[in-house]
Amino acid sequence: METAFYVVWYIMLFILGTIIFSFLNVVIYRTPLEDTNFAKGRSFCPHCKHTLKAIDLVPLFSWIFLKGKCRYCKAKISARYPIVETLGGILCAACAFKFLDPLNFEWMALGRAACAFLLCCMMTVIAYIDHDTMTIYDSTNIVTAVIGLISIPFFYSEADWLARLIGVFCISLPMYVMVLVKEGAWGGGDIKLFAALGIFFGWKYNLFIFFISVVVGGVYAMCGLARKTKKRNEHFAFGPFICMAAVLTLFFGKIILDWYLGFYS
Ligand SMILES: [Zn+2]
Repeated sequence: METAFYVVWYIMLFILGTIIFSFLNVVIYRTPLEDTNFAKGRSFCPHCKHTLKAIDLVPLFSWIFLKGKCRYCKAKISARYPIVETLGGILCAACAFKFLDPLNFEWMALGRAACAFLLCCMMTVIAYIDHDTMTIYDSTNIVTAVIGLISIPFFYSEADWLARLIGVFCISLPMYVMVLVKEGAWGGGDIKLFAALGIFFGWKYNLFIFFISVVVGGVYAMCGLARKTKKRNEHFAFGPFICMAAVLTLFFGKIILDWYLGFYS
C-alpha cells in the first residue's frame, strides 16, 4: 500500500516538473528577446508561425508523438524541449525525495523542497540562456537572490546572516579584483551569480560550488583545446558549470563535505 502511494506520488511530481519546465522553455526562449511577459501571447511554431493548440503543448508527449516535428509545417522541433521537460520532472521528484516525506509531513520540509526546486528552476534557466547567448541577465540573478532570501529559514541553519553575507562576497569580490587586473577574466554575470548564490548557500558551500565549477569547466576547456574546437583565449559560457555545480551542491554538498572533513577529525 505504501509502495503504491510512493509510486503515484513520484509520478505526479514528475508530471508537475515537466509542466513547470515546459513553461521555463518559454522563459529561456523569450528572456534574451526582451519579451518578458511570459504568460502573454500564444505559443507558436518559430518556423511557420502557426499557433499551437493545447494538444501540441503537452510536455514530453507532444514531442514524442509528433516525432520531433511541427504538426503543421513538419519543421524539426529541437530535442531541447523534451530534454528540459524531462530534467524538470527528475528535479521535481528529486527535490521531494531529498527534502520531503509525504507520510511524515512537516511544513519546514515542504518549504525546503519548494526552495530547492525553485533554485533548480533558476539554475536551468540561467544555464541555457548563458549557453545560448553568453549572457547571464541581471533579472535572473535578482530572482536567484530573492530565492536565497526566501530560503533562509529553511536551509543551512548553521549559516547565520554573517556566513551568508560573507558568502555574497567570498567569490564575487576576488573575481571582480581579477577582472580589474585582467579585463574579461570573468563575465560580470558570473560574478553577480556567485554573489546571489552566496545568500542561498552561505560562504562554505559557495566556495564548494566555485571549486566544482572551475574544475569541471577547466576540464571542458582543456578537452575543447585538445580537440581544437576551441581556440586559446576564446571565451566559453561559464554559467552552465556554475549552475550545475550549484544543483550538485544542493543535493550532495553536505554529504561530500562531511565525508571530506571526516579525514581531518
Ligand atoms: Zn511549424
